[in-house]
Amino acid sequence: MARWTVTPFNPDRRIMRPGEPRWAEFFTRLEGPEGCNFHEREGDGKVVWACDHTHRRAAAILATMPEVDVLASLNLFALLHGCKCDCEILLNLGPDA
Ligand SMILES: [Zn+2]
Repeated sequence: MARWTVTPFNPDRRIMRPGEPRWAEFFTRLEGPEGCNFHEREGDGKVVWACDHTHRRAAAILATMPEVDVLASLNLFALLHGCKCDCEILLNLGPDA
C-alpha cells in the first residue's frame, strides 16, 4: 500500500519538534501535572497517566509558548511521528529525541 511520506524539514522555528530549543520545556510540561501527569501509582507503583486520546493537553501547553504554531506542531507530531494523542507524543518521541 502506498503511504504518504513527510520529509523532515523545518525552516520555520515556530514548529515545536524534537531538537527545538524549547522541546525540553514542552516535554517536561506535557509529562507533568499540567499535561498527562505521568506518575507512579500508590500501592503497586505502576506508572499511570491521563490521556483522552486527543492532543488537547499538548495544544493547551503549546498555546502558552510564544511564537509556536500550535496546529502545525500537532500536525507534525501526528504525520511525521505517528502521535495520535498527548501520551503518544511523550512515549514515541522522548525527552531529547
Ligand atoms: Zn494517549
